[in-house]
Amino acid sequence: MIPFSPPRMDKKIADAVVEALYSGWITTGPRTKRFEQLLTAYGGHRATLCVSSGSAGLELMLRWFGVRPGDEVIVPAYTYCATANVIMHCGATPVMVDSGDDFNISPESVERAITTRTKVIIPVDIAGFPSDYKALNSLVERPVIRELFQPATQEQKMLGRILVLSDAAHSIGATYHGMHTGSLTDITVYSFHAVKNLTTAEGGAVCLNLPEPFDNESVYRQLNISSLHGQTKDALAKSQVGAWRYDVIEPGYKFNMTDLQAAMGIAELERYDTDMLPRRKEIFDRYSQTLSPYSWAQIPHYETPEKRSSYHVFLLRIRGIEEKQRDRIISRIFARDVAVNVHFVPLPMMTYYKNAGYRMADYPVSYDNYSREITLPVYYSLTDEMVDEVIRAVVEAVEEIIDN
Ligand SMILES: *Cc1c(COP(=O)(O)O)cnc(C)c1O
Repeated sequence: MIPFSPPRMDKKIADAVVEALYSGWITTGPRTKRFEQLLTAYGGHRATLCVSSGSAGLELMLRWFGVRPGDEVIVPAYTYCATANVIMHCGATPVMVDSGDDFNISPESVERAITTRTKVIIPVDIAGFPSDYKALNSLVERPVIRELFQPATQEQKMLGRILVLSDAAHSIGATYHGMHTGSLTDITVYSFHAVKNLTTAEGGAVCLNLPEPFDNESVYRQLNISSLHGQTKDALAKSQVGAWRYDVIEPGYKFNMTDLQAAMGIAELERYDTDMLPRRKEIFDRYSQTLSPYSWAQIPHYETPEKRSSYHVFLLRIRGIEEKQRDRIISRIFARDVAVNVHFVPLPMMTYYKNAGYRMADYPVSYDNYSREITLPVYYSLTDEMVDEVIRAVVEAVEEIIDN
């Protein structure tokens, strides 16, 4: 069986973790701080806070901005549940909108969804392809849109407009006009979950890139406190001689990253551009070149003059089929010992959101993308021979189904 997404684990990662284990400090400490500095340099943004997951990072930033009951947050219907669940945690309302042909949130649909209650937009870089940040960033700056914004907290007053909080769980290393995700909008959140391009088993990072008059360094210091129970000192600071006394200034969260995770992250980031992304690109190119001659194969956008993907997963669509046929094709691919997936079942099809009143019929492009989509595996240890085996299984399965 060709698995779908095994993590890249080798001696370099194991040595880094063992060194951290024996260093005398295993929770948040020097390795986490170093990983934060490396991520800031990599993304080109102003400051980075490492956290326990991408979901924790998204929720922390909604809380920081003061999102609460009565507020609306615009998200794509086509995403992983984390993007919307964190809005529910804050008691606010996810306002779902449709996507475009590139699977990403449609800026025109976002514009139509904005009301006086809108506080945040969360675009998601599906499969690693950056969203249209130029359109989204200029939309929130537009005078008529700014006039609709009703600030209720100090942070909302300072920004004076809707916040663009990017869910970059798939897209670390992707670029738009030559700039990395992290520096493309106000705040960006990466995930380092086991299936993501860069993994720390579980983990995430908040990239701060807030405009004037925000001081990103002081927001970073404040978030350190909010992500560790509102304590004025972390465990490392408290462990210093005579520094035992601390205060609690808010009922904060427990969202910190450990130095074991950071040790993995540092080792992964060191080789991310030099061998992880290039190998992923080769796999994308091989799928694309071999499959594009088939008239039924719709190849995803992954490189355009402005954008370059992080090559997270390959979202193949089959032309002219319905959801049931797609499901049958997937069974036949599995029968050939190849694991594939679907990214994503749109949120309005999930029981909770369906019961909450979201209707799939309101998101026709998302439904069309989903119903014809099969996600092909992309990972470092997937060899050319394995890619060819995946392609063979897909071609045979599709041709069995569409010819009948
Ligand atoms: C994985 C993922 C997340 C959540 O990341 P975690 O680190 O697992 O919390 C959020 N959004 C999307 C689109 C994801 O794929």
